[in-house]
Amino acid sequence: MIKLQVIIGSAIIRRLGGVEVGMKPWKRTIFQHSPLCVRKVLANLEAVKRNGTRHGGDYKKHYENIDMLRILSEDHSDEKLERLNALLAACRTNIPYYRESIPTEELTSLKEIAKLPLLRKEDLRGNLDRYSNAEPVLGFWHGTTGGTSGQMEFLRDLRSLHYEYALYDRLYGFAAGVSNVKKARFSNVPIAGPTSHTPPFWMEVSKMNQLQCSVYHLDEESYAGYLQAIANFGADIGTGYAFLWLRLAEEALAHKDDRLKLKAVVSDSEGMTQKQKQMVEKAFACKVFQTYGTSEVGMIAVQCEQGHYHILDRVIVEILDEAGEPMPDGLDGEIAVTDLWSTDAPFLRYCPGDRGILQPSGCSCGWQGPYLEKLTGRVRDYIVTAEGRKVNHTARIMAGIPGVRVFQYIQDEPGQLHICVETREGFEPEKMKSVHKNARKIIGEMRITWEVVEQIEKSPSGKIKTVIRNFE
Ligand SMILES: [Zn+2]
Repeated sequence: MIKLQVIIGSAIIRRLGGVEVGMKPWKRTIFQHSPLCVRKVLANLEAVKRNGTRHGGDYKKHYENIDMLRILSEDHSDEKLERLNALLAACRTNIPYYRESIPTEELTSLKEIAKLPLLRKEDLRGNLDRYSNAEPVLGFWHGTTGGTSGQMEFLRDLRSLHYEYALYDRLYGFAAGVSNVKKARFSNVPIAGPTSHTPPFWMEVSKMNQLQCSVYHLDEESYAGYLQAIANFGADIGTGYAFLWLRLAEEALAHKDDRLKLKAVVSDSEGMTQKQKQMVEKAFACKVFQTYGTSEVGMIAVQCEQGHYHILDRVIVEILDEAGEPMPDGLDGEIAVTDLWSTDAPFLRYCPGDRGILQPSGCSCGWQGPYLEKLTGRVRDYIVTAEGRKVNHTARIMAGIPGVRVFQYIQDEPGQLHICVETREGFEPEKMKSVHKNARKIIGEMRITWEVVEQIEKSPSGKIKTVIRNFE
């Protein structure tokens, strides 16, 4: 039996995640080694803490005011412009970097956002003081995200978080058609030991009205247990990783097992094709809403029945060419996103490293407003396991290794990986041993070699490709 070690879509782990019981490494260790009853208590305590952060501030007010159908189906350009000008005014006053770098006059159209400087990961790295308010109104959520040049820390204004979580909760309700939605969630919370073959691989977190399901144990033998547990829990919707819902759907369909019916699946990632989405819809007799977002700015767009990602009222999305200039609608380019709510830690024209094609309006689903017709890829790329699985979230293999300026994976065949490392002060070759352990956790056994190189090759556009794959 091949255990499903990890099949984790790219955007997903980069995300803060819809309603997750994520935790710090030391907590995770205690959690993993505790008996089930203790884990349940710990998970609920964590949930209470997280709910406190997420549902504070104006969350309640937002939740009461949000009309999800209106947000998805109407154009919000005027409101966005107004909010953008308010954001810029606050930036001029409170954010050191923007005091001098943004024009003093108000913008008169959303297109004029191009007058503002772009924000890239390398700008933020080590520079959070310059890009945040020293005296934030509500405070920050501290996040980290992976990337080609290692982990990056960032701050999110809690105001942005509160609005986003109100949106999430409304989206769940909108998708399910009920309030007080019960969720079954696939995310990387450690429910059971990674090599455990004994269920349960799921755990009820009552404080979140949620059945937390392990991503590490779903396979052709355990699938039926998952279906039954989710059905017993009475889940209205499925959330979390799109790929795991697809996996569960594949097993259910293959075994003609229709015991689980859901009202909807609302994934916190994209990644399923339209055909795969239809499989999930068929397996659980429900609709699927994939979302697109990043951990730094949160949820950006929600997918419609046509497979297009409609941009939410909380962000502005632009598409840029290689020189960072705006591209005409309908052409593939780099995504820049502005979070209209993160006032004290602005993400203004932030480039998360994704690519897509933008259309201003006219989707045949009937929802107005701009949408991403396609997400065409990211600066990150996948690696292929010995079993032929494509794994997107690969930066974590290099987690915890100091003194790495940039790295690049070169893959000549499935199951093998060569890592080129451009180092800086503080690099410790000894620490590279941990790539094996990291990789095992993420993608299973890989044959890994590595070397220090003077300079990693860049593409003509100046980007470093995370993965160079020398096979089809
Ligand atoms: Zn649409």
